[in-house]
Amino acid sequence: MSASSGRSGFCDICSHANNEHTFYACTARGCRNEFKICQTGSHQEFNVDGKVYVLCDWCLDHPYSCIWDVTSMPRLKR
Ligand SMILES: [Zn+2]
Ligand SMILES: [Zn+2]
Ligand SMILES: [Zn+2]
Repeated sequence: MSASSGRSGFCDICSHANNEHTFYACTARGCRNEFKICQTGSHQEFNVDGKVYVLCDWCLDHPYSCIWDVTSMPRLKR
């Protein structure tokens, strides 16, 4: 398991650096998928206004099983 921060490279969804993102493991039992939240607050090109966090990736099986409240967070794909 790698650390939850300090990842190298760039996000293939929003093009911001991966170390500007926070990664959370899905909280569903036995699930290894991750939620990926971008914290730059700059996604006007995705029609997201203001300095809000956005979800770049999430667990497709459990879209809300995150310790962070992602219920109303904008999602950048799918
Ligand atoms: Zn971003
Ligand atoms: Zn991103
Ligand atoms: Zn899951």
